Amino acid sequence: MSQHQFQTEVSQLLHLIIHSLYSNREIFLRELVSNASDALDKLKYLTVANDAYKGIVFDPRIDISFSKQEKTLTVSDNGIGMNETDLIESLGTIARSGTRAFLEQLSAEARKDSNLIGQFGVGFYSAFMVADRIEVITRKAGEEAAWKWSSDGKETYTIEPAQRDSQGTTVILHLNEEGLEFANRWTIEEIIKKYSNHVAFPIYLTYEEKEYDKDGKEKGSKAKTERINAATAIWRQSKNELKEEDYHEFYKQIAHDSDDPLFYVHTKAEGTLEYITLFYVPKKAPFDMYHADYKPGVKLYVKRVFITDDDKELLPTWLRFIRGIIDSEDLPLNVSREILQQNRILQNIRNASVKKLLAEFKALADNNKEKWETFISQYNRPLKEGLYQDYSNREALLELVRFKSSAVEGWTSLADYVSRMKSDQKAIYYITGGDEKTLKASPLLEAYRAKGIEVLIMDDEIDDIVIPAVGRYKDYDLKAVNRAGADEELGTEKDKDQEKALKPVLEKIKKALGSQVKDVKLSRRLQESPSCIVADEHDPSIQFAQLLKAMGQTEIPDIQPILEVNGNHPLVQSLKDRDDEEYIADVATVLLDQALLVEGVKLKDPADFVKRLNRLLVK
Ligand code: ADP
Ligand code: MG
Repeated sequence: MSQHQFQTEVSQLLHLIIHSLYSNREIFLRELVSNASDALDKLKYLTVANDAYKGIVFDPRIDISFSKQEKTLTVSDNGIGMNETDLIESLGTIARSGTRAFLEQLSAEARKDSNLIGQFGVGFYSAFMVADRIEVITRKAGEEAAWKWSSDGKETYTIEPAQRDSQGTTVILHLNEEGLEFANRWTIEEIIKKYSNHVAFPIYLTYEEKEYDKDGKEKGSKAKTERINAATAIWRQSKNELKEEDYHEFYKQIAHDSDDPLFYVHTKAEGTLEYITLFYVPKKAPFDMYHADYKPGVKLYVKRVFITDDDKELLPTWLRFIRGIIDSEDLPLNVSREILQQNRILQNIRNASVKKLLAEFKALADNNKEKWETFISQYNRPLKEGLYQDYSNREALLELVRFKSSAVEGWTSLADYVSRMKSDQKAIYYITGGDEKTLKASPLLEAYRAKGIEVLIMDDEIDDIVIPAVGRYKDYDLKAVNRAGADEELGTEKDKDQEKALKPVLEKIKKALGSQVKDVKLSRRLQESPSCIVADEHDPSIQFAQLLKAMGQTEIPDIQPILEVNGNHPLVQSLKDRDDEEYIADVATVLLDQALLVEGVKLKDPADFVKRLNRLLVK
């Protein structure tokens, strides 16, 4: 028997783990199973790739057993195993550069934060949280000698020759007081299901089951062995091995949805980065999609080992409705959340995943009308959020978002709008600020209609924020019809003459309304209605300002709209030769207030409006 000293970093790590992970002890089992799975992966590779190992029968399995009396928990595999040198290098030092780097990065302050450290895969040594002694009995594939490694996880460990029938590793934990709770069939099953259900090798649990005689009297117990994991990392199977039902079943398991998904995307990337993604789009948007504390739906695995399902950065927030998994070959298992977010590998996976999903959405739009309609009815809004947040994918997203329109029923795309544009039309027009019905009835649309120009009806609150920020689609500016400057295409020479003739009238109205309006102009957009309001080019719309106020933003100043009047309307004409102030004030107020009303804006003084209206009617 030989005694060895742990490398200093190991002692540090052991100390750190034992003192900071106690609230999350169960992960030790995930770590041991993942090591067993790695060992099986390595042997699997050798039996395939190396002639010297061809004789080995590869019948992979991981076995877990426990004894309450003996206070032990055992995890055993028939994988690659270790020889004496391996044991010293693997279990006496920190072989993984990742762990060392992590230790170095971790400030003294951060080390005290058990939560922070709780997110890590900390490897073999985490078993010392639940054990006061660990024995490892192991034999390397292709070698005769077996070895026993033993340690109390303090300063030293010992290695001595041992017996083992075939290759593989058996890890025996001598449970400490805190560890005893894990000597329990149900606890073990639960932990395995939670973390290791998709480890690709079968995991068996052996437990004692009591036996009873005919009279129901206990007559002893018998060992039973049962497989406790699904062992199918379905995302790792190739597409043609899998049926749609397989995909759907897995979806229901991970998404906790009883319905089938709308569709799924299964991708395997090989090359500089190796990873697999399996993404699902639910038929119905997740109920918490608009809650600030929504639960993200994508799980991160590293080499089939579950890392986290609580990282909102795995995909951009606008894709928070996606369910599924990312399984990377290149990330280290001990990657922390904080490190995850800046991790280049993960960023690359994320960028590629977004591109892939966008391409799938586009394909759906082009090829599957029925599914696309469902998709857009659920996810148009997050796509619009994407327009705002995700500049690098704006072009692709602009092809996906849908709007209602003055020209067609149902949804339309910007591309379709453009295809319907008149040859001399210079911009894409839209109207925001209200529900579909109000917007479609807006007097602002009259002249566009008369000229045969289509206007997009944007009845989603988010449009008011997103569309001005986007500003452009291909060669066309996006112009709000309720804004000054959007009426250029409607202008004619005749308007200019009328403008001159009606200048005194406009001034009368402006004087009467005072600070209620920014300006009073002759409108080029109105056909029948006497007046309308528009926002100045860079002002928010009145509706939008009201929305912000309703949401509690009190410091929003009152927006002064521009009042546009219809020069042909009798009410406006009547002002030409009237000079009594009461009449002018009545007409001016009624022109402004009714324009506000049709736009769905609440009047400040409805009684005043009604009084003036009645006075005019009587006259
Ligand atoms: P990691 O798994 O990230 O390398 P661990 O601390 O979990 O770190 O394990 C350290 C090393 O010990 C592994 O890299 C492996 O070489 C060796 N090891 C641990 N468990 C086993 C096992 N069951 N079979 C073979 N080797 C093992
Ligand atoms: Mg490990």
